[in-house]
Amino acid sequence: VPLILTDFLDRAVTLYGEKTAVIDGERELTYQQVEKRVNRLSRGLRNLNIKKGDKVAYLTPNSLEMYEGFYGIYQTGAVMTSLNTRLRPDDYLFILNHSESRVLFVDAELYPLVESVRDQFESVHTIIIQGGQAKECIDYEDWLMTFSDEPFDREPLEETDIASLLYTSGTTGDPKGVLLSHRSNYLHALSTMHHLRVSDRDTLLHVLPMFHVNGWGSPFYYTANGATQVMQRKVDPKQMLERIEKHRITIMHMAPTVLNMVLQESQHTKSVFDHPLRIVVAGSAPPPAFIRKVEEELGWEFIHVYGMTEISPLVTTSQPRENTPVEDEQAFARLKAKTGYELIGTKVRVFDESGEEVPHDGKTIGEIAVRSNNVMEGYYKNSEATSATIRDGWLYTGDMAVIDKEGYMEIVDRKKDVIISGGENISSIEVEAALYDHPDIMEAAVIAVPHEKWGEVPHAVIVKRADAELTEEDIIAFANEKLARFKIPKSFSFADELPKTASGKIQKVVLRKEFWKGNE
Ligand code: ATP
Ligand code: MG
Repeated sequence: VPLILTDFLDRAVTLYGEKTAVIDGERELTYQQVEKRVNRLSRGLRNLNIKKGDKVAYLTPNSLEMYEGFYGIYQTGAVMTSLNTRLRPDDYLFILNHSESRVLFVDAELYPLVESVRDQFESVHTIIIQGGQAKECIDYEDWLMTFSDEPFDREPLEETDIASLLYTSGTTGDPKGVLLSHRSNYLHALSTMHHLRVSDRDTLLHVLPMFHVNGWGSPFYYTANGATQVMQRKVDPKQMLERIEKHRITIMHMAPTVLNMVLQESQHTKSVFDHPLRIVVAGSAPPPAFIRKVEEELGWEFIHVYGMTEISPLVTTSQPRENTPVEDEQAFARLKAKTGYELIGTKVRVFDESGEEVPHDGKTIGEIAVRSNNVMEGYYKNSEATSATIRDGWLYTGDMAVIDKEGYMEIVDRKKDVIISGGENISSIEVEAALYDHPDIMEAAVIAVPHEKWGEVPHAVIVKRADAELTEEDIIAFANEKLARFKIPKSFSFADELPKTASGKIQKVVLRKEFWKGNE
């Protein structure tokens, strides 16, 4: 029996048909009601001549419409692709044309973002607008209601057929299109629901955007277990706290920065401490002190995960294992802040340059490689990048890590960002962390620049606090206290802001450009 994602909705409808599936603002739908809308949507897509393998794109915040989109598309055998709501019109044009999307579903509030480029769409022939109206767009609700909600005659699929085409964040270059099969998304969901202990008692507050791979899995594993999913459209800490209370939320996935906003807000609103919320899930290497704060002040269990678009996405978790000796709460939090160990169904290794596994000594650096059914089929229309990334059955993540004697990995840097100076590896992340401790430094990015004698040396781009008087000499004196000499940046530049991706990651590739001209 092939592993096809529509199984998850079928299970929920059979076992939890009358239970609330989705809450989006004032709207509440049971699993049976969702299924009926999904059938209408699949019919609508077929009516637009959408066939197996065709791409259908979404530009929507977390919403009922996006949720039902997954299952409506998969019933037809088509491929779902999504657009980050914080991109620029040119980015949308690139992704829509590159993916060869045929139909675009767009939220009315976001439509202005694509309106200016729509006459350059090469493959999109229909734009369906949700929650409003616009010229030459089909109104979603009206359109949906013209189709029958009877069971839909599904397109037969193999589990290796593509379900999702997701674009990477574009931190290290242009975003790449990642092809994920039904099997990859399915097995990733099974593994994740185990590690997060998802059950029918759960109510999820959907904070992480569904358009990003980190939020992409939720419609699968919460549905399969008959949990209830509350859609959070915008990052609004006050509203989030109200919803946590009102809906008795048990689990949330969010970026540490958003969690921090909730923490700030919780200090001047009603108490949420006696609440049943049991888990918050976050990536992006949060500091141990922050993890302790969440666990101690709020009593929420913090689960740190590591992943990437190419792996559906989750690879590791750092939930301290029962057989790992832990001295005290600080050590516990430090362990959680690491990248951790492999999830079920995933093999993870750290290889050095010669392809040998690094010793588990907590200091030898190598590249994280992954072998799993969750790994992508390849990059869309980029076989060169695919064969550079997947070699001998291992997907090379481009993330450099050390691994301790208990087997917990810790990311040191991205491979492209490591500075190799006189034969020493310098972690740009370590240098940045030292600089961030300076009270007048708002942001810092450390990059390699060419150097005649050492090959490369660290250069720091600094964003100062508004009226701070801060000189190179001040920073060097400060760094001297914290860093080995060879790690101290040899040159500095000051900027008003740093170039970032839509999800807020600093694009060092842009910063490096001016230093490596003609040297690439
Ligand atoms: P691109 O591949 O286009 O350059 P990207 O790698 O930022 O962009 P994503 O797939 O969204 O695109 O992000 C995955 C990357 O995010 C990982 O390779 C890793 O560098 C970083 N990352 C993910 N989880 C963590 C974590 N828990 N701690 C530290 N870094 C993380
Ligand atoms: Mg990447």
